[in-house]
Amino acid sequence: MIPYIDLKRVNAQHRAELLAAVERVIDSGWYITGQELAGFETAFADYCGVQHCSGVANGYDALRLILRAYIELGVIAPGDEVLVPANTYIASILAITENALTPVLVEPDENTFNINVHQLEPYITPRTKAVMVVHLYGRAVDMAPVRALAKKHGLKVIEDCAQAHGAIYRGSKVGSLGDAAGFSFFPSKNMGALGDAGAVTTNDTALDHCIRCLRNYGSEEKYVNKKLGLNSRLDELQAAILKVKLKYIDAENHRRREIGRSYLDGISNPLITHTSSDTSESNVFHCFVVRTDHREALIEHLQKHQIGTMVHYPIPPHQQACYSHILEGRYPITEAIHQTVLSLPMDPYMSEEDIVAVINSTNVFCIRRNL
Ligand SMILES: *Cc1c(COP(=O)(O)O)cnc(C)c1O
Repeated sequence: MIPYIDLKRVNAQHRAELLAAVERVIDSGWYITGQELAGFETAFADYCGVQHCSGVANGYDALRLILRAYIELGVIAPGDEVLVPANTYIASILAITENALTPVLVEPDENTFNINVHQLEPYITPRTKAVMVVHLYGRAVDMAPVRALAKKHGLKVIEDCAQAHGAIYRGSKVGSLGDAAGFSFFPSKNMGALGDAGAVTTNDTALDHCIRCLRNYGSEEKYVNKKLGLNSRLDELQAAILKVKLKYIDAENHRRREIGRSYLDGISNPLITHTSSDTSESNVFHCFVVRTDHREALIEHLQKHQIGTMVHYPIPPHQQACYSHILEGRYPITEAIHQTVLSLPMDPYMSEEDIVAVINSTNVFCIRRNL
């Protein structure tokens, strides 16, 4: 079986170093907000090319704490509008509604799957205060037009970097391209912890300060609570593990890019299209996504050939039960994407043989018509 991704094999590569990190934390006797967290935060801020990084409990919290902090700082008020791509993973949108803000869904560009940066302006109203871009499937959003528009209308630019650790846009890493960015280190992301973890990166000192306070019960001094905060800390164990994983993210992204290039060169089946043809450093191939009008048949065919696949994602947020009566309207590009996308195996430690097997099996896929 060629799995979609084999996390056991990924982490086995770093087993000795991960065990040493875990032992160090066990033996330290200090498990929450200590030196491991501080060390990881500094290292990850340096990696992204920003001044501040604050570790939080997961990627969703990273995004909702950014918005929450902007509300605390008086930059955004409940009821304000935030532009967000309609085809993102639901966490981006939950972070907005969770803060009593209004998500304004924007259709993506079919060629990149990212928010259509040239069609943002018509969505802007006097209540629009921010745009949340999502570097979906590992591909950096074309940020220049987004930043120009944000400047013109006084909007905050928030990056959802959960799928794009290490992607580089015009010489700068994602996480440094807007006003604030949220990362997830969920185990299956390009840079994954061994549990839940997340982080916020920013050059905004006041925002960073506010997030540090909010993640820790709204407290800066033990038992003194300034804000109505929550408990969203990144623990010492995950921070120590992430410090190990950070050493390998560039090499693993490089390998993902090679796999992506092999798929792009090798897959030539008229029933299947692939649009993510960017293999530059701005794409870290969190997913390799193809489209087909025969998705169920293709999944079954690849399954028969012992190849695992995933669908990112089967149901768009606006059609989820939790958002009925809240997110209305039709989003035809988004809906068509959700009906036709399929992600092929993308694992930095898969063999050349496995890559060839995926290409060959995909190329022999055909539809039998009943005569
Ligand atoms: C995974 C993901 C998140 C949420 O991250 P968690 O750590 O699972 O909370 C947010 N946005 C996107 C685009 C994601 O892929």
